[in-house]
Amino acid sequence: MKHEHELYDVTIIGGGPAGMYAAFYCGMRDMKTKIIEVGTELGGQVLLYPEKTVWDVGGVPPVMARELVNQMKNQATVFEPDLFLGEQVVDIQRDENQYFLLTTDSGKVHYSKTVILAMGRGVIQPTKLDFEGIDQYEVSNLYYTVQELDVFRGKKVLISGGGDSAVDWANELVNVAEEVMVVHRRDHFGGLERNVKRLKESSAILKTPYELHQLHGDSTAIQEVTIKHRETDHLETHRVDAVIVNHGMRGEYGPLAKWGIDTRDGRVAVNEKRETSVPGIFGAGNVVAHEGHVPLIAAAITDSVLAVNAAKRYLEPEATEIAMVSSHNERFASLSK
Ligand SMILES: Cc1cc2nc3c(=O)[nH]c(=O)nc-3n(C[C@H](O)[C@H](O)[C@H](O)COP(=O)(O)OP(=O)(O)OC[C@H]3O[C@@H](n4cnc5c(N)ncnc54)[C@H](O)[C@@H]3O)c2cc1C
Repeated sequence: MKHEHELYDVTIIGGGPAGMYAAFYCGMRDMKTKIIEVGTELGGQVLLYPEKTVWDVGGVPPVMARELVNQMKNQATVFEPDLFLGEQVVDIQRDENQYFLLTTDSGKVHYSKTVILAMGRGVIQPTKLDFEGIDQYEVSNLYYTVQELDVFRGKKVLISGGGDSAVDWANELVNVAEEVMVVHRRDHFGGLERNVKRLKESSAILKTPYELHQLHGDSTAIQEVTIKHRETDHLETHRVDAVIVNHGMRGEYGPLAKWGIDTRDGRVAVNEKRETSVPGIFGAGNVVAHEGHVPLIAAAITDSVLAVNAAKRYLEPEATEIAMVSSHNERFASLSK
């Protein structure tokens, strides 16, 4: 039975793409591994967009994010790391043996020889609308993430926002909804050029520079939305069946600053080996800051390889710099039988 007091070679904080791949790679390096994830399942941010098609992970054909998470979970658990879900790490200390003591919000203490920080942007929450009484519509037709495209089939959908997520969802929904209107406070859309071009060429109605002014509903759902031109103050009211708000996500690391790890631009500073300023603590994925950082799944995977290799060499300085590739790695011999 898994027990939080057992000593692990490595404890990974966060079960997104970086944490999941780190767990797999720790197995390749024969390390006793634990993942602590605050959510109730592995997947990280990718769980926010289960029905988006992901095209840009090397060697993986275009795949629905939900399926990608399943594949990553399968890979993460090949070497059976211990999983502690639903727990947020709130403190890291060191004991007299130089082992790390990780305390979670439930008061449990986990013991580990090394730590890999894979917390992404921390515990993330969407930036919500600030209209009075608006929360009641979150159970009917106000959405901050899209979990299922089919919910919007044949509907008039208004999307507020102009960044990556708004552009992506508009592109996905034009094929499903009766009408997609994108309301954005600037004329310029964020997001990948190719996706913005696709949006502009699509049937989506683009309202710029407009912003949400008022939402009109009854006790059950939003029925109309008034939008306002940011320069002329011109008002327009549109009937809607659903409103999707993509005004960004806010991440909370909690008391990370108190852990004594150097940070840069609010993230954990790491060197090219993904070592933090604290010996024995490493970082991977969106939580880290380094010259070559890109906020992509592919980059999180590379970070994880480097962080795990550095953790292995921290524990066993004579160990090889990288794991034997999978085709020659004896850890797979028993699995392939
Ligand atoms: C709408 C959208 C679309 C995207 N599309 C793509 C795409 O097409 N291709 C691509 O490559 N990337 C895409 N991304 C980005 C991609 O999802 C991220 O780069 C990736 O998820 C980062 O992985 P990560 O493991 O570093 O962090 P995350 O995925 O954020 O995972 C971090 C995990 O750590 C957990 N955690 C945080 N703090 C604690 C704590 N103290 N204790 C325990 N657990 C903790 C969180 O709950 C979370 O599960 C997209 C992102 C969004 C929002």
